[in-house]
Amino acid sequence: MRLTAFTDVSLRLVMRLAVAEDGELLTTRAAAEMLSVPYTHMAKAVARLSDMGLVEARRGRNGGLRLSGRGRRASVGSIVRELEGGEDLAGCEDDPPCPLRAACRLRGALREAREAFYSSLDGVTVESLVAQPARDTLTLLRPG
Ligand code: SF4
Repeated sequence: MRLTAFTDVSLRLVMRLAVAEDGELLTTRAAAEMLSVPYTHMAKAVARLSDMGLVEARRGRNGGLRLSGRGRRASVGSIVRELEGGEDLAGCEDDPPCPLRAACRLRGALREAREAFYSSLDGVTVESLVAQPARDTLTLLRPG
């Protein structure tokens, strides 16, 4: 199982925002450059994380991104679960759909396996992801 690029970008942003200093002005563009992802991908991650209440995006000259209190307290499992969604792990409903889907036991087993994967991340906090040595690496990131 592999995370979507969207989830990965979102988690990179959450980690970088978790080590931001008070008053640090972090724009979407700066975050994209720091984390080596295209601006458009970062803008989509910012929009989604804002909708989820994990990131606050303030507009204007003194605007910027910051992690909300909820974002700081969120478990990695809850973030990944919401970003990845509940899509089948295999192409059960593809076009053409799989002929086994009406009675497939593998489909249910894969769903359970995915839930076990998410559950194992429920005990991981954002705060724990930015403990040393990750904190120094994240703090030293610079745009450009
Ligand atoms: S075999 Fe089962 S899990 Fe695989 S695509 Fe078909 S219905 Fe889905």
